[in-house]
This record gives sequence, C-alpha cells and structure tokens, in this order.
Amino acid sequence: MTDAARGLVLVVEDEPAIADLQRLYLSRAGFGVQVERDGPTGLAAARRLHPAAVVLDVALPGMEGTEVLRALRADGDWTPVLLVTARDEEADRLRGLDLGADDYLTKPFSPRELVARVVAVLRRTRGVQQQAELRIGGVALDPLRRQVTGTDGVPVALTVTEFELLAFFASHPGAVHPRERLLSEVWGYAAAGGTRTVDVHVAQLRAKLGPEVVRTVRGVGYAAGDDPPPAGP
Ligand code: CA
Repeated sequence: MTDAARGLVLVVEDEPAIADLQRLYLSRAGFGVQVERDGPTGLAAARRLHPAAVVLDVALPGMEGTEVLRALRADGDWTPVLLVTARDEEADRLRGLDLGADDYLTKPFSPRELVARVVAVLRRTRGVQQQAELRIGGVALDPLRRQVTGTDGVPVALTVTEFELLAFFASHPGAVHPRERLLSEVWGYAAAGGTRTVDVHVAQLRAKLGPEVVRTVRGVGYAAGDDPPPAGP
C-alpha cells in the first residue's frame, strides 16, 4: 500500500526490522508508506513521489540522511522531514535542524511516538491556512500562500515548522511564551525530550529574518519582536 487516506510517508531506513515496524504502525494509522533503504534511492523517491512527509534516518548507506535533507532543501523542496538519529548523534541532530529538518526522533523510539510526530508535523503543514496576512517585526506572512517577505521586501524560504513558529508569534503579539508552551502549541507534543528544538528554530528564524524578529525573555521564553520589553525595575 503506498497511497492511503492520510497521505504518503516516505521512510528512509536501512535497518529492516526498524523499517518494518515503521511501515506497520504508519499504515495502521492510515498512511501510505514507501520504504527506501539507502540515501540515493531515498532522495530519488522523495523527488519522484512528493510524499506528505519524510522519516529520514541519518546513518544511511550511500549518502547520509543529512545530505539527503540538504539536497531536498537545495531543490526548494520544503516537505516536512522528521530526522531519526542514534542517541549519541547530538551534533547530527543540530546539523539536521540547521539544514531544515522539522523535528527529530532519537533511537530507540516507540512506534507510537513516531506516528504522533508524523501526525503533528502534518498538522503544522495544514495549520494556519485560513488566516489573513500577519506581520511581525517588519516581516510579512501570507498564510494562504505560505510566503514570508523580509524587512527588505525580499521573499524568504522557511521550513514548515519555521513558518508555523513565526505565525504563532505573529498571532500573539505582546505575549511571552515559555519554550514548553511553544513546543506543545507549534510542535504539538509535550516536552519529554527537551525544548532544544525550539531554541534551534528560533535561531534559524533570526538568521533568516534578522535578530529582532523574535526576542528572548530571560528566564521565561520568547516573544514576538514587535513589542520591546518595558524598562526593567
Ligand atoms: Ca541507519
């Protein structure tokens, strides 16, 4: 089965036991599943099949998962990518988020967690489509076209998750959001694995749109950059 009701998920995983488990749980959850077992065929399948999401192992034969991700983003392909790493691959995780991964899972993970993350990333993809234009710190967001225009008037390419995070800030001007709340509101799950992904995505937004777009509220979290903090006591 490759085209079930909830959309096609491309799984790129070279360990057959893990790939079989992913296929089983994702198809039970109503997804079509295509499995590829090395980097080059995974990349070719992503380009050919236009899946709804990609679950991408990092350590792959032929081509590392991070290189597959880099190639997709270089194509201008913003398909949501969930990166799968081993426990000791912290550097790969952060590099993957830098390269435009939407989320990551650390092996060993429960298949239920995998399904929950895929559902969450797809919910983000379909998130804010009915809203009017949003503005934040001189940056304009068009939720219908999912386009972002920087302060200099030039379009900026964002990942699905970067877009949703920015839209969340822009929809709540003046509010300060703890990292845990951002994780549950934007990523759609609780902070069991820590909130590092929030910090990395905020850093990406600042790198792409300017440091003032999101401000840090020390000891609390983040807020939209439109609203400078009041003078402290
Ligand atoms: Ca592997």
